[in-house]
Amino acid sequence: MDSNDQDPAPSRRRFVGTVAGGLAAAAAAVPAAAQQPADPAPGQPPAGRAREAASRYPRPPFQNQSQPWPGLAGKMTPRPDHGETTYRGSGRLAGRKALVTGGDSGIGRAAVIAFAREGADVAINYLPAEEADAREVVKLIQDAGRKAVALPGDIRDEAFCRKLVAEAVRQLGGLDILVNNAGRQHSTDSILDLTTEQFDWTFKTNVYAMFWITKAAVPHLKAGSCIINTASVQAYDPSPNLLDYAQTKAAEVAFTKALAKQLGKQGIRVNAIAPGPVWTPLQVSGGQTQENLKKFGADSPLGRPGQPAELALAFVTLAADESSYTTGQVYGVAGGAGNP
Ligand code: NAD
Ligand code: MG
Repeated sequence: MDSNDQDPAPSRRRFVGTVAGGLAAAAAAVPAAAQQPADPAPGQPPAGRAREAASRYPRPPFQNQSQPWPGLAGKMTPRPDHGETTYRGSGRLAGRKALVTGGDSGIGRAAVIAFAREGADVAINYLPAEEADAREVVKLIQDAGRKAVALPGDIRDEAFCRKLVAEAVRQLGGLDILVNNAGRQHSTDSILDLTTEQFDWTFKTNVYAMFWITKAAVPHLKAGSCIINTASVQAYDPSPNLLDYAQTKAAEVAFTKALAKQLGKQGIRVNAIAPGPVWTPLQVSGGQTQENLKKFGADSPLGRPGQPAELALAFVTLAADESSYTTGQVYGVAGGAGNP
């Protein structure tokens, strides 16, 4: 982070916290007004908090900041809200077994927290450099009383993707929810500067890995299981600086719709979520220019970026049995713009 940066709105600093200490530290990172002196069951915050927190979510301008890829949620200013102190479960995924890629931070972490509090055991994949974020998530899953499986590794490698699924199945004792959420986004203004190496990196992470992981997972999925892919509004309304990334997100939408048709007869549902701008490490580790980061989310009708916590219920909804007639769909969570 630039040393001479000034926080444009000191009140937003209440979102900033430290990495260490798991749930306790995460709780300290939430605005004081969002912490109520109630006595919730483990991992089950009292009702009412979520709406209060949402009304205080940070708005642009944001201060300049940049982290080496892949970035850590724990080092962002303000720190994202993944629902650590707000998501309240009600047993909607009791006994389910989920694998979430990119489960250490951002949108993936929000899905993981929600899944665990809804009663699912969860395996997360992430990069070894993200161990600090991942350790917090493991503790959050355990605090919800569920089994946590940490499976670090690089999904650009097909052999690792196969191993990842096999390990998740072995340690969870099966698999019935797969979330392909890991993603690579690197801002590049001109096609003339877009290298084959970057193009390949983005497609390997966002398209090939989704294919490899899903292919390895399908033989383990039974009727009632589901796959959820994190696509993007970029599939429909691509930004000029995300030429490669936007193509991969469009590919994810087509993959979702085609696979839903393929697996329908087996009773396996396949859906996607298309977020708009969300405050996550991906954006501060090369995903956006500093100029775009400063005004991040300003163009959205809600005038701010989403927080990962605001995506959680979309994942739970698509995963829940109650959505048994929903497949091949793209669920937009974009603050009012660019939806499918
Ligand atoms: P994030 O940085 O928190 O999550 C991305 C994760 O991808 C990382 O945590 C990392 O674990 C994983 N990852 C990246 N490359 C990997 C590799 N080679 N091997 C293993 N793991 C790897 O950011 P996020 O924004 O929460 O991203 C999650 C998903 O949401 C991505 O697919 C992204 O494209 C999508 N998305 C994000 C936004 C946004 O504005 N943040 C908007 C639309 C879609
Ligand atoms: Mg991460």
